[in-house]
Amino acid sequence: MKVLVPVKRVVDHNVKVRVKSDGSGVDICNVKMSMNPFDEIAVEEAVRLKESGVATEVVAVSCGVDLAQETLRTALAIGADRGVLIRSDAELQPLAVAKLLQALVEKERPSLVILGKQAVDDDSNQTGQMLAALSKMPQATFASSLLVDEGCALISREIDGGSETLSLSLPAVVTADLRLNEPRYVTLPRIMKAKKKPVDVIHAEALSVDVAPRLKTLKVVEPPMRAAGVKVEDVSVLVDKLRNEAKVI
Ligand code: AMP
Repeated sequence: MKVLVPVKRVVDHNVKVRVKSDGSGVDICNVKMSMNPFDEIAVEEAVRLKESGVATEVVAVSCGVDLAQETLRTALAIGADRGVLIRSDAELQPLAVAKLLQALVEKERPSLVILGKQAVDDDSNQTGQMLAALSKMPQATFASSLLVDEGCALISREIDGGSETLSLSLPAVVTADLRLNEPRYVTLPRIMKAKKKPVDVIHAEALSVDVAPRLKTLKVVEPPMRAAGVKVEDVSVLVDKLRNEAKVI
């Protein structure tokens, strides 16, 4: 069973991003980039499936610029077998990524595609759902546990009221939530081993996919500064402020 894991190169989650002075976006020059944290969880889950004998091959794929190969190397260090870079200099929005992944799914024919539930840069939470719709595969988003057995995937997923369990026939699309697993620490020997694993480069144009952006960013602004706190004299003033001034956000 082949598992495909799309991994996105994003600004490291510890970096405090700054808005460009012209308001056209955030400044990512000289900023540390990493694999999207939910994608690390997705890779870890795929590698665990391989280690338990359920999966036979784990393929990591990233869509974007050449530097996304670094992200693929991280996936290979976690334990993926090979990488595919779908190379494009264009601004790839979730629909474009989903279409590129659909083209790769048609070529690779994986039994399972495990994505992150969302990318922490755009917080879109759309690519997995769009890929499932385009490829006509069943989907389970926000997975907190995954069990594969005899052509079926049993998924517990997080919903507003708690959790629900879905049984999907394979091939299927799953998106990983935080509680699915805790990704392993990538050791130096694994990083060295990953350097020898193959990474294929496919040019996005070769897949004949329309990647033109559908959304236009009008302006990006910093969130408002948090107002300073105040000290109140006693509880009655506090209660009054809570009742009349505090707002539910
Ligand atoms: P999003 O819909 O942008 O929040 O992204 C959800 C998931 O789609 C991510 O966690 C990745 O697994 C996948 N994804 C999004 N963009 C890319 C990309 N450029 N390359 C590979 N995978 C991606």
